[in-house]
Amino acid sequence: MSKRKANAAARPESLQAKRRRVATILKKLRRRYSGGRRTALDHVDALQMVVATILSAQCTDKQVNLVTPELFKRYKTAADYAGSDIGELEGLIKSTGFYRNKARNITGCCRKLMEEHGGKVPREMEKLVTLPGIGRKTANVIKYAVWGDNDGIAVDTHVGRLSRRLGLSERKDPEKVERDLIEAAPRDARGELSWLLIQHGRTICAARRPLCGECMLSAQCPSAGHAEDIK
Ligand code: SF4
Repeated sequence: MSKRKANAAARPESLQAKRRRVATILKKLRRRYSGGRRTALDHVDALQMVVATILSAQCTDKQVNLVTPELFKRYKTAADYAGSDIGELEGLIKSTGFYRNKARNITGCCRKLMEEHGGKVPREMEKLVTLPGIGRKTANVIKYAVWGDNDGIAVDTHVGRLSRRLGLSERKDPEKVERDLIEAAPRDARGELSWLLIQHGRTICAARRPLCGECMLSAQCPSAGHAEDIK
């Protein structure tokens, strides 16, 4: 490392400098990954997105998308899920893993939607996080995917790891990482930043063997070339 670079690395980065760096990161990620989508989970309305998001825990989006066409044909409303035969529902979602738990969350969530929200998915964060199977991260994913809302940033394992590697946060706790990202990212790009970091984490900046040599963010990344230990 040159003396100038080493000195720069030793100085804490100002918030202003971090915001400029995030703007450049966003520009580069958009160039590579923007396809106009806000989620890889197929859905046509908020209820389908809620169900797909519950199913996506510990499962790939691709696998969820294989299961949901049949599921969405069978159950169309919150009342349908709430009154479903649990064995039948479990059978339909079995290949997504943890299906007993997921079936319980889907029916519990839809019962609550029926009892407290007239069968509709609420848009407010504080209401969404009271639904079974929905935490802050999934609520952020749902809000951005369905309504394009930018009040928070969904921090999953990819977003957390990339935030640490890119020097945007030093924290491990997803809610604290989210706070750091909110401070550094433009308000209208919060949901997009999460989506783009997930794409980059899946394709280039994997947990094991990040491809720094091929990464368009290497000039903005303090971990370029030595990122394996940052998980
Ligand atoms: S330079 Fe390496 S560590 Fe940094 S974002 Fe790219 S792949 Fe990840």
